[in-house]
Amino acid sequence: MLIFRQLFDPPSSTYSYLLADGEGGESVLIDPVFEQASRDIALVRELGLKLCWTLETHVHADHVTGAWLLKERLSSRIALAEESGAEGADRYLKDRDRVAIGTRYLEVRATPGHTNGCLTYVLDNESMAFTGDCLLIRGCGRTDFQQGNPRALYRSVHTHIFSLPEACLLYPGHDYRGLTVTSVGEERRFNPRLGGQLSEDDFVGYMGSLGLPHPRQMDIAVPANLKCGRREGAAPPEPSWGPAVLSFAGIWEIEPRWVEEHLGDVQILDVRQPEEFDGPLGHIPGAQSLPLDALAESASGLARDKPIVAVCRGGGRSAQATVILQRAGFEDFASLAGGMLRWRAEGLVVEGGRD
Ligand code: FE
Repeated sequence: MLIFRQLFDPPSSTYSYLLADGEGGESVLIDPVFEQASRDIALVRELGLKLCWTLETHVHADHVTGAWLLKERLSSRIALAEESGAEGADRYLKDRDRVAIGTRYLEVRATPGHTNGCLTYVLDNESMAFTGDCLLIRGCGRTDFQQGNPRALYRSVHTHIFSLPEACLLYPGHDYRGLTVTSVGEERRFNPRLGGQLSEDDFVGYMGSLGLPHPRQMDIAVPANLKCGRREGAAPPEPSWGPAVLSFAGIWEIEPRWVEEHLGDVQILDVRQPEEFDGPLGHIPGAQSLPLDALAESASGLARDKPIVAVCRGGGRSAQATVILQRAGFEDFASLAGGMLRWRAEGLVVEGGRD
């Protein structure tokens, strides 16, 4: 079974795509975004995958790739076009190369025109293709910088993308209207720049009159992407107080065993109702009882000298507690993963309660 996820970065309207072989868990991530690395790492971890490759469709001008950061964190390898001129990749791809995803693969098609190093990745059975900024939904990438060339783009689309089966789904590098997917048949008929009876000369005329401003991020993004996203000292912040991990849901969580070993270094905030605090599950020694429904009002009175670990029965209310703590301006906090149920299941130290 193929696992497929489309991910979105709102500031740059960029799509990233996670593809995995559900059997062995090998995965690739197409066009990761630097600022979304924590989210992507959480998803890979929660789905139980191994990230083998990050693949770039091209050297982007509107966002910095997450490739280098993901390599640092997950030991994934970096691949992009030989023509890109980027340094620091583990593999330089050319037309018709294959990138394995466990027992599946993506075939590389060189589709220059938006940049000279643009690639389209086609799934082995030609049911989906990832076109980057070569072909967008009812549009295409601009051709006025980064060695862009409208004639090359027109030929790339007609030769390498419109030649795929009509039903092949096309996933673009961006969409600015929230559209998510199109197909070869649709774009062949309805793409207003490249579809229908439009000729190469029609297209060149169209692209010459776009008059777009340069992307805001361009002066930062292009140099960073020519180093595969390597940016010393610009990594997203990691908690320094303990090994809290950000979940795909956006919640900082911490493992019970670490908390038991560091009970003196944190404050335990039990957000269950008082009768649960004194109930059969018991509570963690030294825990402060402050039910979730009273937290928002009382949060400002909590001590700030130690990080807060929020606790509840199963980890749901404590997750919401971290949201409230963040709103109240706290920086060092996490939800106890699995709550008291897991704490008890792991046989950790308890005050009160029954077996
Ligand atoms: Fe682009």
